[in-house]
Amino acid sequence: MSNQDYSVKQLLEMGACTNCQVCADVCPAVTASENGALSAISRMKGLAQILKGRGGLLRKLFGRKPPSGEAFDRFSDTVFRCTLCGNCQEVCPVGIHLKDLWLSLRQDMVHSGHYPKKIDMIRDNLDGKHNVFGEDNEERAEWVDDMDEPPDDGYIRDKADIVYFTGCTAAYFPLAQKIPLALTEILDRSGVDFTLLGEAEWCCGFPMLGAGVKDMFQDFMTHNLSVIREKGATEVLFACPSCYATWREHYPDEFKIRHASQFLMDLIKNGRVPLKELDLTVTYHDPCDLGRGARVFDEPREVIRAIPGIRFVELPHNRENCVCCGGGGNLEMVDAKLSARIAEQKIQEILSTGADAVVTSCQQCVRTMMTYVRRNKIALDVLDITQLIRRALAE
Ligand code: SF4
Ligand code: SF4
Repeated sequence: MSNQDYSVKQLLEMGACTNCQVCADVCPAVTASENGALSAISRMKGLAQILKGRGGLLRKLFGRKPPSGEAFDRFSDTVFRCTLCGNCQEVCPVGIHLKDLWLSLRQDMVHSGHYPKKIDMIRDNLDGKHNVFGEDNEERAEWVDDMDEPPDDGYIRDKADIVYFTGCTAAYFPLAQKIPLALTEILDRSGVDFTLLGEAEWCCGFPMLGAGVKDMFQDFMTHNLSVIREKGATEVLFACPSCYATWREHYPDEFKIRHASQFLMDLIKNGRVPLKELDLTVTYHDPCDLGRGARVFDEPREVIRAIPGIRFVELPHNRENCVCCGGGGNLEMVDAKLSARIAEQKIQEILSTGADAVVTSCQQCVRTMMTYVRRNKIALDVLDITQLIRRALAE
């Protein structure tokens, strides 16, 4: 056990907390569970106690006993029941980088041996199979076979300007596979020179950071960079906001990177995607890693508004104030009921707009919202932005 999972800056920032509790008011985990222990302020207080009670100078100064294993387990339970949505960080008036703190805290809990055992499954899957679900990595691009007319090369080319990095969820989950199916069709129709990596693509590393097993990250990053270099590509394209965020924040600045919503906006502006009229009222859900994380708010809205006939209505909480769908932070693996309760809150907010469909730009948001809608037989269409554009493609 040590306090070395935290930077000096993080330790100093914690001391700046004014106990204003604004972070608790906007936390979807707190609202859905009615459990204040899941709030940022409560978690920071628990962390402060742990840091003071550990060995070394702090313990001498504060005369604390080390926390018991039981206290650690109770605390750890709250650490992993968080979607890492970043809403607490967005509203914190003193600017504490809470999301980074939650990642360091997860790392600490894993190093200390107090973490949900499902984390071991994530680690084993990644270690053995290079994807977070433990599926055969050779099957990573098998979704291409579901196209009406799959290309002979399966979109895996020796060389290309652009690599479309699909990510684990879109590669393996049938609900999410509709996103790469839609995006590759749009890219094909627009004459974009792109390739998939197929089995050479390994997880981007995001689940390792969220699970507190950062030690594996470097190998995965090195591998992905090297296979992209082999393709001679200058750009990497992502439909997954978490892959995009991981590349933005943790990979070296070697390739141009764009999220699909930004790429689609440029294609549409350059007249490369002919669009037909759609008679549909839609609202837009900002994925946490794309909106609050990468500040990509305008491009998806511009893409939606470019479709003739479409009517766009904003959610009551939108852009940087958008409420998480419940699908982030590996929460579904740790507490599926809480994830579903957060999704329920989200769907109720969407229904209040009267929209026929909710559009988002994330496979995990699509999975989470679609699962809730289907289970509860709610008449609401859930679409990724790539699926919306695929639907609007003119013949
Ligand atoms: S990241 Fe989101 S879920 Fe986690 S504590 Fe902050 S507001 Fe709550
Ligand atoms: S919003 Fe920031 S300052 Fe206010 S209680 Fe939460 S962490 Fe502390």
